Amino acid sequence: MDYETFYRHSIEAPEAFWAEQAQLIDWQTPPRQVLDYSRPPFRRWFVGGTTNLCYNAIDRHLEARGDQLALVAISTETGLTRELSYRQLHREVNVFAAVLAALDVQRGDRVVIYLPNIAEAVFAMLACARLGAIHSVVFGGFAAHNLALRIDDAQPKLLIAADAGMRGGKVIPYKPLVDAALEQSAAPPPHVLIVDRGLDPQMTRVAGRDLDYAQLRKAHEQAEVPVAWLESNEPSYLLYTSGTTGKPKGIQRDVGGYAVAMAMSVRYIFDIAPGQVMFSTSDVGWAVGHSYNVYGPLIAGATSLLYEGLPTRPDPGIWWYLCERYSVRTMFSSPTGIRVLKKQDPAWLRKYDLSSLQWLFLAGEPLDEPTAHWITDGLGVPVIDNYWQTETGWPAITLMPGLELKRVKFGSPGLPAPGYRMKVIDEATGEEAAPGHKGVLVFEPPLPPGCLSTVWGDDERYLSSYFGHFKELLYSSLDWAIRDEHGYTTILGRTDDVINVAGHRLGTREIEESVATHPAVAEAAVIGVRDELKGQVPVVFATLKQDAGTQAGQVAQAMQQRVVDQLGGIARPSRVYVVNALPKTRSGKLLRRSLQALAEQRDPGDLSTLDDPGALEEIRRALERGP
Ligand code: ATP
Ligand code: MG
Repeated sequence: MDYETFYRHSIEAPEAFWAEQAQLIDWQTPPRQVLDYSRPPFRRWFVGGTTNLCYNAIDRHLEARGDQLALVAISTETGLTRELSYRQLHREVNVFAAVLAALDVQRGDRVVIYLPNIAEAVFAMLACARLGAIHSVVFGGFAAHNLALRIDDAQPKLLIAADAGMRGGKVIPYKPLVDAALEQSAAPPPHVLIVDRGLDPQMTRVAGRDLDYAQLRKAHEQAEVPVAWLESNEPSYLLYTSGTTGKPKGIQRDVGGYAVAMAMSVRYIFDIAPGQVMFSTSDVGWAVGHSYNVYGPLIAGATSLLYEGLPTRPDPGIWWYLCERYSVRTMFSSPTGIRVLKKQDPAWLRKYDLSSLQWLFLAGEPLDEPTAHWITDGLGVPVIDNYWQTETGWPAITLMPGLELKRVKFGSPGLPAPGYRMKVIDEATGEEAAPGHKGVLVFEPPLPPGCLSTVWGDDERYLSSYFGHFKELLYSSLDWAIRDEHGYTTILGRTDDVINVAGHRLGTREIEESVATHPAVAEAAVIGVRDELKGQVPVVFATLKQDAGTQAGQVAQAMQQRVVDQLGGIARPSRVYVVNALPKTRSGKLLRRSLQALAEQRDPGDLSTLDDPGALEEIRRALERGP
């Protein structure tokens, strides 16, 4: 089917459309009503239907594909690879679920999972889903304070943690962070279930509180744990947003709508059929990891690759080696990941046989055109930028090669995904902006299946964060965008980051993109800094490619000139700082708000999701030194 027909059907007859998609999953009881929209903007999909995410991800495949690979967990940190068939995954998840049940984890209870990107994280998530418990995965290695905040918000019955993670060959002990978090927490759970990888011989245990998973599992090796059938709108999991703009929000997901969105998107967006292989480089701690390392590919009966390690270790060819080794069809990564590789020799992109690889999807940050060209040319595979949020759970703007591949427009993630009614709203008038005019990207409710149900325990925050911005009831993405006459949307940056120079509004993206066209530039962040005369002026922080070999001063001048040539004098960066690293969140997003705060000599704010404090220190020094 062509994209237009499919999309139009989803908008004109949403209930018929989603009822058809609901056939892609197994229901214990079929839904009584496709959509209940009696309390806008809250909506309930597939009312009265009962199902289970774990059943759809594993049990239903056992008969047809029990011996097919379900999960391959590769670690270039420990050197371990685990390959699990659907039958083996079923066994491990039953054992894990039995251990959880023995610790009195019940339907509706929360379980915080603080594990690295290893197979046990997947077992733990699916075991919770099997029992109807609500998991909340916290990215492994987040500081104690972050973990404590999330524990206090979710109030879990149990915390599951590892002794340690590893990054770049270095062991990162988790247990001291867990101990500190539980000390800070106002509502610490009674038990910590420890997956001991044997990486930290110094690990200490608190008697009575800390339990060893390997010990407990012995009593349950043959356990069969029945699936808990949940009503479609019961919560399945919580996941906190990246915290790029401030305090993270606890996104609450449902069961049935999410399962249907996963089945539909893996098939028609990611072009994966049962038995095919999908490789997402994300960590399970992020939205992409939840949807396209765990639930999506498994619900689809595919094989999912999970990767613990850096993209450059043991060498910058590791991802492509894995594509060859496992005949990966669809790969999913982030612009940040590709920009890391861009600093390396492009010959790595051609070292392995990539004949199985059909698509490279990238999401999470704007994909600048130079990077998009570099990776497309280097791999010889179509690169598909796609836009979404933790809130949406799956792409909102993308191309859908599983239906048909529409034209790739560099710089734009493409067209609306099924079920998303999209508009760009002019902030001044509150009306829909004409094609080619900038504004806020919004979705008209009801949101499609898979998107958040609410903010955990805080309906008010759900309403005020997302629906309180316009006269009409509209979901604000809080991103700035522009649409062309063919419906292709380009994301220009976050609404918080818009730069206002003498009355002209500029998206950070526009200037970053322009700066990045300089061949020596690896990555750039642009912020607006207070200015007495103009209100704000753009300021650039950039990193250079390793082999750039040019003088930073010269490059800086050339960057300013490029912006003037491409966007006009009004956008000219008033200062350019060349640095070795830019501050990012753990999920690889530029922390522009912290850069801006430092440049304006303010407090950099909540840094709990900052990845490398060294990068911020360097910015501080660069600002003191001057451009
Ligand atoms: P918080 O909401 O806590 O501030 P966050 O918005 O960074 O954090 P995520 O949900 O992980 O948390 O990220 C979603 C955001 O990432 C989007 O709103 C958008 O700003 C950006 N983004 C994602 N994909 C793309 C893309 N393809 N192009 C441009 N921007 C993107
Ligand atoms: Mg956000």
